[in-house]
Amino acid sequence: MASLEETSQHCNDIVESYLRLSPNESEFIKCTQDAINETKRCILDEIFCKWCPFSGEISLSYNGGKDCQVLLIVYLSCLWEYYKKGSQASFPLAELPAAFISLEECFPKLQDFIEFTAMKYHLNLYKSPLHPDKKIKMADAFDIYLNEFPRIKGILIGIRRTDPFGEKLVPIEKTDSGWPEFMRLQPILHWSLASVWSFLIYSNEPICELYSMGFTSLGKVTETDPNPYLMIENDKDHNRSNRFNWEEEHAFQNQKELNKENIESDYELVNVTETSIHTAGNQIHRDTKYYPGWYLTDDKLERCGRIKPA
Ligand code: ATP
Repeated sequence: MASLEETSQHCNDIVESYLRLSPNESEFIKCTQDAINETKRCILDEIFCKWCPFSGEISLSYNGGKDCQVLLIVYLSCLWEYYKKGSQASFPLAELPAAFISLEECFPKLQDFIEFTAMKYHLNLYKSPLHPDKKIKMADAFDIYLNEFPRIKGILIGIRRTDPFGEKLVPIEKTDSGWPEFMRLQPILHWSLASVWSFLIYSNEPICELYSMGFTSLGKVTETDPNPYLMIENDKDHNRSNRFNWEEEHAFQNQKELNKENIESDYELVNVTETSIHTAGNQIHRDTKYYPGWYLTDDKLERCGRIKPA
């Protein structure tokens, strides 16, 4: 398996390759290139100037979702760039500190994806213990994490401005009262949903399978369904289509045939058959068919599969 050094270099190759694409190729390339450049600037010129990424002071808040995966790939790319510009004789990090707060039961497919990507991207992944009877809050879980890893000063979070409570956030800020003290590092606030998909699909990296089943945002098992706007039978006017064909066909390393195969087999999974994912909305039938998550590019509809608790 590739080392963290090789994985960071690979992520750098993906990012730099995306930045070299001609903006005319596809509708989302230009805005995604701008988004990547802004994230790189924030990580390299602001975050790495305050905290050395090789000192163990920076951790990643990771739940296997598409947003933190984008953040992880761009972050690893920056790590490689930082290393190349520095004077260290060898890559000084074997694993990236990361935390997954699993307060509730997780989708099995997401759990598997988190385990798989923790190995793939060399995350030293802390998993908060499940507290089935004692309801503990996210803030308390982070408090326990930071007590165990007191060296950590900043935590990368894949939040975007269009997420709930994201509107007023800035890229680097202290936690609110009621939270343990650390710096929230939020370098992808400005990314749109379309840019997330354009970049991830082009990257050719594996993504959590739930997205190919019509999920667009992954919350608690009991409060998340596939996005109703992606239900095929509801799309009588054919409003939904794949706007990332170009990214699929020209995906990184030109694994055209391989990539095409992946997407096609993913597409078959759109027919939702796994009973374990039907726990949220009782109205979902076994044979309901959905377009894949990336068929939806409207930020305002991204969380429509999230069900508010009764
Ligand atoms: P998606 O919206 O598709 O679920 P995502 O999970 O990456 O993608 P959000 O759900 O909006 O994005 O969450 C924002 C960010 O908050 C994540 O990217 C991650 O950094 C952090 N986060 C959310 N839930 C957890 C968790 N349970 N453990 C660790 N970090 C989390």
